[in-house]
Amino acid sequence: MRAVRYHGPKQPLTLEEIPRPEPGPGEVLVRVGAAGVCHTELHFLSGLLNLGIAPLTLGHEIVGRVERAGAGVRGVAEGDRVIVYYYVGCGKCRHCLVGDEHLCDALQAEYGFISDGGFAEYVKVPARNAVPLPDHLGDEAAAPIGCGVTTAVHAAGRARLAMGDVALVYGVGAVAYGLIQLARLAGAEVIAVSRSAAKLEKAQALGAAHVLNAKEGRLAERVKEITHGHGADVVFELVATRETMTACTQAVAKRGRLVFIGYSEDSYTVHPIQLVVTEMSVMGSVGNTLDELIQAVDLAARGKVRTVVDRVLPLAEFQKGLDALARGELIGRVVLKP
Ligand SMILES: [Zn+2]
Ligand SMILES: [Zn+2]
Repeated sequence: MRAVRYHGPKQPLTLEEIPRPEPGPGEVLVRVGAAGVCHTELHFLSGLLNLGIAPLTLGHEIVGRVERAGAGVRGVAEGDRVIVYYYVGCGKCRHCLVGDEHLCDALQAEYGFISDGGFAEYVKVPARNAVPLPDHLGDEAAAPIGCGVTTAVHAAGRARLAMGDVALVYGVGAVAYGLIQLARLAGAEVIAVSRSAAKLEKAQALGAAHVLNAKEGRLAERVKEITHGHGADVVFELVATRETMTACTQAVAKRGRLVFIGYSEDSYTVHPIQLVVTEMSVMGSVGNTLDELIQAVDLAARGKVRTVVDRVLPLAEFQKGLDALARGELIGRVVLKP
């Protein structure tokens, strides 16, 4: 089968022929219908994220159809449309036992990270990781649910978003589009920040009450103006450069929560007095749980959350998609079709 292979940091991805995987007991073979390209792919290529496993098929936003089911598979059958939950925890550590499989101390698999992912014609996963997808959600539209929307569901939970909160979303991409819609559903008022007018226009269309162009500077001051001096109760930091981290920290309200989802080469530095006098909390949010994927699919199926797809490309044109993503010109996801 054809697959897009990663060979380590600063090496180009290559389209190759590799053997088609065989599903073992309890596993299913999924014929990939669509796979979204996430910003994480760029972190793999730059080396900022280096899990030391190569060669590897990238791609963790995977939608497809079950082609074959291994022995003993229940709950999902050949021909079913599914979306892949990309973590396989050990099932025994304290994190797995409470459902926080994404924090597992001994991950058994993580598709597109440490195990072969979805930029291929087929992927093999345990039946439990193949979550049913309703027919009215098409492959291309559903792919960004796998990480984009689901990571947003997780981060909104970490932030304990509440009715009446002001939620600032800094950096507008697939996770941000999810967060904007989820914040609205939770009864929060959204401020979206980006350097791109086109991305901000989309943010507004999805429910952001205020949009601020980062190029204009004075972010914290403008947030204080909008909120009558209060600041943002929750700030989702999706960019995390020195400049954006400073602005985000200053924009947080007293008792507010600053949630890091994105990261860059830069470190976060803050004087403790800023944390002390505001009683703000700083936290991280990574990935998502199986439960959250099921919630995200349900929200999308009921039309409560929409995904944003900029373009659909054949698998062989993966490089065009990565280049467009690196240039920051995408309004939503690139989705690859094998
Ligand atoms: Zn992702
Ligand atoms: Zn575990």
